[in-house]
Amino acid sequence: MAMGATPEEVFLFVAGTRPEAVKLAPVILELQARWQHPMLLATGQHLELFDDALAAFGLVAHENLDIMRHAQTPAEVVGTLVPALARRFAALRPAAVIVQGDTATAFAGAQAAAYARLPLVHVEAGLRSGSDEPFPEEMHRRAIAQMADLHLAPTTGARAALIGEGIAPVAIRITGNTGIAALNWMQARLARDTALAATLARRFAGIDRRRPLLLATVHRRENHGVRLAAILKALLALAEDAEIVLPVHPHPTVAGAVQAALAERAGVHLLPPLDYPAFVWLMQRATLALTDSGGVQEEAPALGLPVLVLRDVTERQEGLQSGNARLVGTDSAAIIAAVRGLLGDAHAIGRMAEAALPYGTGDAARLSVDAMLARFGRRAAAAE
Ligand code: UDP
Repeated sequence: MAMGATPEEVFLFVAGTRPEAVKLAPVILELQARWQHPMLLATGQHLELFDDALAAFGLVAHENLDIMRHAQTPAEVVGTLVPALARRFAALRPAAVIVQGDTATAFAGAQAAAYARLPLVHVEAGLRSGSDEPFPEEMHRRAIAQMADLHLAPTTGARAALIGEGIAPVAIRITGNTGIAALNWMQARLARDTALAATLARRFAGIDRRRPLLLATVHRRENHGVRLAAILKALLALAEDAEIVLPVHPHPTVAGAVQAALAERAGVHLLPPLDYPAFVWLMQRATLALTDSGGVQEEAPALGLPVLVLRDVTERQEGLQSGNARLVGTDSAAIIAAVRGLLGDAHAIGRMAEAALPYGTGDAARLSVDAMLARFGRRAAAAE
């Protein structure tokens, strides 16, 4: 229990992966700054990645359910988590349960809250690709929307998608994406903490800064297999044009394919998964981002970093519409042509870098907390 709080005052966050840690951290910090009682229950879906991402914001989970077993499927994660979370919720009886995004953890947290008849807040609600992919994320977020009581939508498009699925407009607030609040927080820390910035500069001294820097990340389940092989083939070819920096996701399928295709190749820097400050430092200096990540599609535009999206569909349509991002898919020749085209056209890169900010300017944590307190805070409860 958060110190000094009675159960009905606790805002209980359930999270288990790196992006959830990054995107919920500013909301938790904002609640703390307003003398509220956030509590974070970690599921253990990711281990080190999650703890490191939280630690970058000076946070630790209050409790860890530690459910992850080697090579678990999403069905097994959800099947293990729902009863384990339901037991904790029954004991804690918080004012509200908060989940973020579309992971197996978020889906299980939503179900456990629904069974416990606890109010549910969904952070980053309403993202839709309009297809079955990405799987199972699209399925998770659609299902969570049907269970949530308060939907914190990052954009007007997300709000419209929710209304289209029958969600009452009064239950939706547009907040911007909390990932931008996290990014602003980390940028301020890097600007302030000169020792950290100097350590990072030393850590990445092996990258030839006279050449363009392509920052790549790949991890999505739907890209495993031939699509991943094609992406890696393109990156190898592009090492002729630019420094390729690729923090390798620890998923064994991804890590194995990356090592086989790119280990010890000139111009290619394979790195372990990076702590969030290091990744932000690199995004600040990169020429282009090549990624299938959701979070990177949102963060890069806020840094003026153009994004080539290595997917066939994306639920982050706003970045495509504003011109910050382009959907290039996973075909080797298409990726190579898109990158070479941009590297040879400084005006095109400049237009992408300067496009309007599609995911808000960084006040999402404040707006999220405003909405949560108005709906589930002590004063709101007293008024009912
Ligand atoms: N990120 C990080 N280190 C890395 C790669 C990414 O800290 O080596 C951060 C990134 O800035 C973003 C989040 O992790 O905040 C995105 O996570 P990921 O791409 O794993 O998941 P997705 O956003 O696709 O769900």
